[in-house]
Order: sequence, then structure tokens, then C-alpha cells
Amino acid sequence: TATTAGRITLVTGAARGIGRQIATAFARSGHHVVIGDLPAAADTARAVADGLTGEGLSAGTVDLDVTDEDSVAAAVGRITETVGAPQVLVNNAGISRPAPTLETSLAQWNEVVAVNLTGQFLCARACLPAMRDAGWGRIIGISSFNAKSAPVNGDNASYAASKAGITGLTHNLAVEFGRDGITVNAIAPGIVDTELLRRAHPPQRLAELVDRLPTGRFTLPEEIAATAVFLAGDVAASITGEIVNVNGGLYF
Ligand code: NAD
Repeated sequence: TATTAGRITLVTGAARGIGRQIATAFARSGHHVVIGDLPAAADTARAVADGLTGEGLSAGTVDLDVTDEDSVAAAVGRITETVGAPQVLVNNAGISRPAPTLETSLAQWNEVVAVNLTGQFLCARACLPAMRDAGWGRIIGISSFNAKSAPVNGDNASYAASKAGITGLTHNLAVEFGRDGITVNAIAPGIVDTELLRRAHPPQRLAELVDRLPTGRFTLPEEIAATAVFLAGDVAASITGEIVNVNGGLYF
């Protein structure tokens, strides 16, 4: 099988959207999944976990702000004490604050980079020691097609730059921890119908873009989730340092 049952998997930003589907897919693959999200999303995160445990699956929640070093350390510490150290980390939490570059304040820029890039570093750094000690681990970052193209519009430099940074982080960690049985990859989703996307782009613009795709439809969160579960499996041990596009052919 593509996964080993019972592995402990932390998915950040999993109270809704793509992260929620990733958490669901891991739970259904037999993992114990921990839904990490901001304290403000605690009720939604709890509802997702309750839905999974209601299916007879194994799931819990943890309050987590990926931009806050202490919060990340506390969350990983709590998971480790209660169920064991995370063996799979899915760095999914992300935000988008589109604005023309000349109207982007340093604070807005820093906010996006803090969640999308620094957050992935902090969560990886917190989980890597136990993965290294165990001689096995999986880190899967969620990047974006925006890491290398801007087909929707050119008003999201902070987002594009933060997502491109994930490529460098992924390559470096893959080299640094490859001999420790840890693979590090990222998934670059295309156009996925979530709150983040709807808030970032006008519906008409999205419809035009989706119409241009070879597949002619939005990429489903479940399709991102299935890729993440595959990358976390033992069968994917030779895939590392890779950015996997799951985007309906968004190249044209
Ligand atoms: P979403 O806004 O629906 O969900 C994001 C989740 O992250 C929310 O639950 C939010 O509370 C959480 N979050 C935000 N800041 C956080 C923080 N500091 N700490 C912890 N959690 C935090 O977004 P989504 O569309 O599901 O996006 C998930 C990931 O997929 C993001 O990394 C996003 O950039 C990426 N992505 C999305 C699309 C798309 O089309 N929707 C395309 C490419 C990449």
C-alpha cells in the first residue's frame, strides 16, 4: 500500500479548504491525523476532527500559529506527548494578500512571507529532530503554480515570492536530511475552489482561466490530498526534492 497505517501526521491550516481534505485523506489512509490551525479556527478544526472520529478514524486538533516559534514548539510538544512525534508534516497553512507591488506595504509583504515561507521552515525545524532520530520522515510543502507563473494576474508578488521560496527550502532540506530516511517535497496546486482563491480573484477572471485549462475545470482539493498521501508513502521513498504540479495542465 502507499501508506503505513498508524503514522502520526500533522497538517497545518487544516480547518478548511485544501488542508481539510488532506487531513481527511490521511485519516482515511489509516494515519492518526492532527489538524493544526489558528486558535480562531479551533471550533472548525474540532468539527473536522469529530467528523473523522465519527467515521471511526483517528484524528485530533492542536492550536497552532505557524508564524510563531513558541506556538509551533508548543504544538509539536503537545502532539509528541499525547500521541507521539509527527512522522509526516504537511505544511499547508497559507494566505494570499493580493495587491499591486507599489501599494504593498512592508507589513503586508512580511505577513505573507511569515505564513507561507517562514511557517514552513518553523514547522519543519520543529518536526525534523524526531524524524531524524526515527530514521524516517516525510515533509510535504504546499506551494502554488504562482511560484513560477502569474496567469491570473500580476498583483500578488508577495504570494509568488513566498511560494517560490518553498522550492529552495524543499531542495535544501531534501539534501540535508536525505540520508536520514526523510523525504522533502512540495505540491504546487493549480486553481482550487477555496475561500483563499475566491477572496484573491474576481469570479469572472477565475472562470476565464479555468476555461483555458486542458481539463476545463477547477483542480479538486481531493486531488491535492491524494498526491500528498502518495508522497508520504514508503513507495515514494525515492521521490525527494521534487515540486509536483497538480494543476490541470496550467502551462499554456
Ligand atoms: P484557505 O484560506 O481555505 O485555508 C487556509 C487555512 O490556513 C485556514 O484554515 C487558515 O485558518 C489557516 N491559516 C492561516 N494562517 C495560519 C497560521 N498563521 N497558522 C496556522 N494556520 C493558518 O486556503 P486554501 O486554498 O485551502 O489553501 C491551502 C494551501 O494551498 C495554501 O498554502 C495555499 O497557498 C495553497 N494553494 C491554494 C490554491 C487555491 O487555488 N486555492 C492554489 C495554489 C496553492
